[in-house]
Parts: sequence; C-alpha cells; structure tokens
Amino acid sequence: MSTESTETVPVLPHWIDGARRESASGRTAPVYNPATGEVQAHVALADEAEVAEAIASARRGFEVWSELSMAKRQTVIFKFRELLVAKKSELAEIITREHGKVLSDAMGEIARGQEVVELATGFPNLIKGGFSESVSTGIDVYTLKQPIGVAGIISPFNFPVMVPMWFFPIAIAAGNAVIVKPSEKDPSASIWLAELWQEAGLPDGVFTVLNGDKLAVDGLLTSPDVDSISFVGSTPIAQYIYETAAKHGKRVQALGGAKNHMLVLPDADLDLVADQAVNAGYGAAGERCMALSVVLAVEPVADELIEKITERIASLRVGNGAGGPAGEPDLGPLITAEHRAKVANYVDIAEADGGTIVVDGRGCRVEGHEDGFFFGPTLIDNLSTDSRAYTEEIFGPVLQVIRIQTFEEGVQLINSGRFGNGTAIFTNDGGAARRFQHEIQVGMIGINVPIPVPVAYHSFGGWKASLFGDAKAYGVQGFEFFTREKAITSRWLDPATHGGINLGFPQND
Ligand code: NAD
Repeated sequence: MSTESTETVPVLPHWIDGARRESASGRTAPVYNPATGEVQAHVALADEAEVAEAIASARRGFEVWSELSMAKRQTVIFKFRELLVAKKSELAEIITREHGKVLSDAMGEIARGQEVVELATGFPNLIKGGFSESVSTGIDVYTLKQPIGVAGIISPFNFPVMVPMWFFPIAIAAGNAVIVKPSEKDPSASIWLAELWQEAGLPDGVFTVLNGDKLAVDGLLTSPDVDSISFVGSTPIAQYIYETAAKHGKRVQALGGAKNHMLVLPDADLDLVADQAVNAGYGAAGERCMALSVVLAVEPVADELIEKITERIASLRVGNGAGGPAGEPDLGPLITAEHRAKVANYVDIAEADGGTIVVDGRGCRVEGHEDGFFFGPTLIDNLSTDSRAYTEEIFGPVLQVIRIQTFEEGVQLINSGRFGNGTAIFTNDGGAARRFQHEIQVGMIGINVPIPVPVAYHSFGGWKASLFGDAKAYGVQGFEFFTREKAITSRWLDPATHGGINLGFPQND
C-alpha cells in the first residue's frame, strides 16, 4: 500500500456497472512510468464493499447478457473488434507508459489479443451442442453448452492487454460476465478496454474492472457468486489461486512462471540461432513468460554462438519505449526499481556461483532517463545448473548459455526443471526435432521458432509448475472452460406405444 501523497496525480478508479467508480477504500498503490521512474498515478485498491459491489453488478450483467440471442451478442463482439482495430495505437501508448515496453512491442501484444477477439466472433460454431437421434426407440439425446456465470480474470503486469484478452473475448462471447482484476502496476489499459466495450454496445455489468491487491483477489476466489477463475502470474501465486479457488468450488485455470530453454544442435544455422536467441531473450526486456532464458548449446558450438550473440548485443539500444529523437530503442526498462534489484541480484548469484558474466547489464544507464528502471542485456556462460540463477525464473534481459555434450543431456535438463511452459529446438535434423517434440515435457514447443506462442485457435498453456488446472487458455479449450454442458434425453410420447410400469434402470432398446 502506498504511503506517498496522492494529491498531485490521479487515482485510477474501478469500472463497475458501466461507469468509472471512484474508490472510497482509502487504499492505493503507485503506478510508475518505468522509463522516468516517476509516479504518474495511483491505483485504487478495492475494499470488501467494492469487491461485493463489483460481483453484484457482474451477476446482474450476466442475467441480461446470457439471455440475449447469439446473433445480438455476435454483433457486439464484431463492433468491439472494429473499434479495437481503429484505436489500438492509443492503447499501445497506454501500455508503454505504464509497462515500459517499446511501442512496436505493445502493438504486437495487442495484435495477439486481437486474434482471440477474432476467434470469439465465430463463437456460435464453437459452442454448438450435439444431437443423437433415436438412441433408443423414440428417444433423442442432445447437449447444450451454456455459460457458467461470472468469470474472474486476474492478470500479471507483463501483458496488460494480451493476457486478459486470452480470456475475456471468449468468456463474453459464450454469454458470461467477467470481472478483470488487472495488475496494480499497469491497470489503465483495462479501463480503456471497458470503455471500448461500452462503445461497442455491451450491456452494463458484463465487463467489470476491479482494481486491487490480494484483498480483491481473495474476494473473487471465495465468493459463491464467482463461478470461474482464470489467473496468470508467478508460480507461487498461481498455486495459491488454484488451491483456494478449487476449495471454493470454482472452475480454475492458473498459469504460472517459466524458464524456457532453447536446445541448439551442432547442425543448426548459428547465425539464425544467434538472431533468435537475442530476439527471444531480450525482447520486452525479458519480461515475457515465453522469453528465452537458457541456451543449451551442444558442443562444439558454444564458443562460436557466444561470440555471435555478443556481437548482436553490442548493437542493441536500451531506452524509453515511447521512443525519442533517435527513434524506438530495442528494449525498454523493467517494471519497477524493486524488480530491477531482483534481476541484478540473480546476476550477482550467478557470478558468486562461478558463472562468467560475458555481457553485464547491471550498470546500464540511459542518458536523460537517469531515474528509469533500466537493465542492459546480460549474457552468462559457464553457470552451474545447481545455481539458483539457473533453476529460478529471473524475468529480465538475462540469457544463460549452458554447454552440453549431447541431445539427450539437453532433453534431460529441460525435463528435470520444475517449469514446462515453452521450449525450442534449433536444428536441420527433422528426426531429432521429431524426437524432441515427443520426449519433451513442456506445453509449447518451437522447432526453429524461438517463442512458440500458439495462434488463437490452438490453446496456450504450459505443463508442470507453469499451469495448475485442466484447461489451457483460448482455442477450443477456452470455450470448454467458459461453458458447461447439459445432456438432455427426450421422448415425445407416442400415445399408440406409450404405457406400462418398468422399475429397471433405463437401457437402450
Ligand atoms: P504476480 O504473481 O506477482 O501477480 C499476478 C497477479 O496476482 C496480479 O494481478 C497481482 O495483483 C496478484 N497477486 C499478487 N500477489 C498476490 C497474492 N499474494 N494473493 C493474491 N493475488 C496476488 O505476477 P507478476 O509479477 O505480475 O507477473 C510476472 C509473472 O507472471 C512471471 O512469473 C511470469 O512468468 C508470469 N506469467 C506467466 C504467463 C504464462 O502464460 N504462464 C504469462 C505471463 C506472465
């Protein structure tokens, strides 16, 4: 909770019942511009009464929305997509101002979210039931898919638009109401999206934004009027969310952290590998759940690869993601000073554990932005796989090269880790790639593709400590998550044949 004065900067409200709702909780958190280090706003942190108000409004929204025809719902989703396309550069500026990522990357995140909106426009085809005629004499069976009710969506700071959009277009299309609890570090995009939905004609209460911290999250997890929870964030919180929501009888999907490895076989094109390792390791300053953290180099390629990566790092520019006289930099700042200290601490640990710091981003300073939370691209060699800097998620622009001798050693290392979000293999050997995809215990795999985020019609999600729950995000699994099925067995009586008592268990005849 903030102790700073909120007099000079705005306090960001909630969005409840189709309007901005100022908070009366008296609790706020600072929202920084990470490129300048300034507090540019405070965000309201909901109290119990505001949580209850948001949930009650969402319930009313659900009653209205779920009774509208699919045709009417579809019109609203199409309109939302049209408005998003027309105005997305405004949204990108909001992302960059609060998150720090470069503008083109903010546009990229919106584009990936937009894909899910586009998938959702075709929802009637994805929530169709089934029909079996004459399963028994005169009896038909059919299934309906109905919305589940009020869906809670709790999102992390690193994708303030794309991550909520993995869920809400599908949840809304399927007839649910949603309550988005954005990260308190970059909450403004959610309010902007709420206003866009209103312009698109969504009834009040169907899209709610509840700003807050653990108190708001716990309110959603425990309320009997919230039917599902979709969470994305760090693994310890994901596990807590999964256990608490399940204990309260909710459907839950909780996506956690990651440590993504790239396995490089000696036959790979090392220039391509170096380009992709730099893009996937340092893009968005490494604050992506699918960022590449570790390159497993099967010898004898490590020396040459490190040389190529180092050359490329030298040309990277760190700066204000909003751009400036010199144009857009390659990477912006980290989210907070606290997070920068955490990333630096991991590099200290790597050094203390015997790692060679080939390129050191700890001293990075950006002229004119001395108070920004910048951290330069960092490359580490010779790190022991026992080091915490290897086993834990760093979530910054830090890439490690681990030297190994065989393909099998690489597979074993990846499979022995606790995370299973994404991984990639770089090779020209189709047989090795095929074996990799079969043996690797990870949810999303790239073959000569470094950040294998599936398109909207294939679901997104990892294995092990990267996803708690049974359903991945979006795609067919998204529609399954946000609907529940009814099976109806129906007999329209034929007066000529009906009659008689039979106490036996119903069987086909
Ligand atoms: P975080 O876990 O700190 O916060 C995520 C959300 O949980 C926020 O809305 C926050 O307010 C809330 N929260 C935080 N502490 C809580 C608590 N004790 N009780 C209840 N709620 C709490 O994560 P973050 O730092 O915002 O995001 C970065 C993390 O998210 C990284 O670990 C990254 O790998 C992960 N992530 C994973 C994916 C994925 O698809 N698996 C995608 C994006 C980010």
